[in-house]
Amino acid sequence: MSIATINPTTGELVRKFDEMSADEVERRIALAHDAYLRHRLTGFDERARLMRAAADLMDSDADELSKTMTVEMGKTRESARGEIAKCTRTMRYYADNAGKFLADAPRDSAAVKAQDAYVKYLPIGPVLAVMPWNFPLWQVVRFAAPALMAGNVGLLKHASNVPQCAQYLGEVFTRAGFEEGCFQTLLIGARHVEAVLRDPRVQAATLTGSEPAGRSVASIAGDEIKHTVLELGGSDPFVVMPSADIDRAVKTAVFARTQNNGQSCIGAKRFIVHADVYEEFSAKFVAGMDALRVGDPMEDGVDVGPLATEQGRKDVEALVDPALAAGAKALCGGKRLDGAGWFYPPTVITDITEDMDIYRQEVFGPVASLYKVADIDEAVSLANVVDFGLGAVAWTEDADERARFIRDLEAGAVTINGMTTSYPELPFGGVKRSGYGRELHAEGIREFCNAKTVWVG
Ligand code: NDP
Repeated sequence: MSIATINPTTGELVRKFDEMSADEVERRIALAHDAYLRHRLTGFDERARLMRAAADLMDSDADELSKTMTVEMGKTRESARGEIAKCTRTMRYYADNAGKFLADAPRDSAAVKAQDAYVKYLPIGPVLAVMPWNFPLWQVVRFAAPALMAGNVGLLKHASNVPQCAQYLGEVFTRAGFEEGCFQTLLIGARHVEAVLRDPRVQAATLTGSEPAGRSVASIAGDEIKHTVLELGGSDPFVVMPSADIDRAVKTAVFARTQNNGQSCIGAKRFIVHADVYEEFSAKFVAGMDALRVGDPMEDGVDVGPLATEQGRKDVEALVDPALAAGAKALCGGKRLDGAGWFYPPTVITDITEDMDIYRQEVFGPVASLYKVADIDEAVSLANVVDFGLGAVAWTEDADERARFIRDLEAGAVTINGMTTSYPELPFGGVKRSGYGRELHAEGIREFCNAKTVWVG
């Protein structure tokens, strides 16, 4: 894949970028290593001052930056602005809280016959971040803010279709006053990731993206005995039980399936509805999906823009078309929109059977799979049937049902009466093939720390 901005709304090539040479990559790794040797010795107050300055810069760049995001990957301007605001909130949150998350943690000194025994959280060095295009700022910032606050430095290999966002991120922390080398972008294709990962100065890696990319990075890192955090795909269930507030559930379901033009790893993808409320939910859900305005994501009032890449639309069709040919039904949508750009309409599919690929695989577009179940047992087993385990949602007012869903849904997060969302204030991550490790909050910031045990006699 060449490194380029191609506007998904028009299909036009906006700007092409040369890949960095091996020499330039080497120079940047060396710079990262040198910067780390000094950055690790700075205190939380100093890092927090710089992090807040970076947040201020990003806020003041929001107008132009949101435009760049929309041009590069097609998200609506409004959601691009929302993403920037979430990033800056997160940067300030880690500026305020990193010192608390990483404070020395006293242990039972008497039990180990020490004068003092505690855990000290120390940075580990340059960390490689391999990131996707779907939230081109947020995916990076949720790694960068805690990593820099912990005293690590970052090397970003961003997705090849968002090079201008990548460049922005590679500059903003330096503009804010972090030493050059603390956070840099490597404009390289996926095939050059291995050499960076094997470089002895690079200590660990975090990857958000598809399962094949995760498998490749994790196996190379495993070969090098380097720590990884993986945030991979998801095919999250959204269960609706009879006691649910159906109107609220429907409104949330429509947004959860179509946010970011349907390209969110934690977007609800499989709607599992109890038979008692199926007809009502289904009618209102289809009406809600059908009413969304699809169009140019630069325009106000547009709900759903194009898919980010031509291949992305083909991937959606490769799951939907064979299912429809085999007997599944589209209650709305189900066919690409004519004209320029990679538009795909909000779609609801029913009558899905186990032999269809759409039953188990993730659809990365605004396509909802709708299922009717007889009881909570069937809801839980259908929810857990996929290999993924990122987020899971259940709508119910019944306390026993809630407890059952919280205990039995196989996911890194369970949301009751809402939609899965990532918050800087809560840990985020998956189980099963959705990956491992956690980002955000104390769990996330400690992933790339050496939890050093200290014993003083
Ligand atoms: P990819 O995995 O193709 O791309 C993600 C990043 O990985 C890009 O920077 C890409 O580079 C890089 N990459 C791809 N293959 C390799 C490889 N073999 N070795 C090293 N790096 C590699 O994902 P998509 O962009 O297609 O995103 C869609 C998928 O990612 C979906 O399954 C989605 O659910 C998942 N995802 C998960 C998220 C989460 O938080 N859990 C968030 C967003 C997406 P390049 O662009 O140069 O190919």
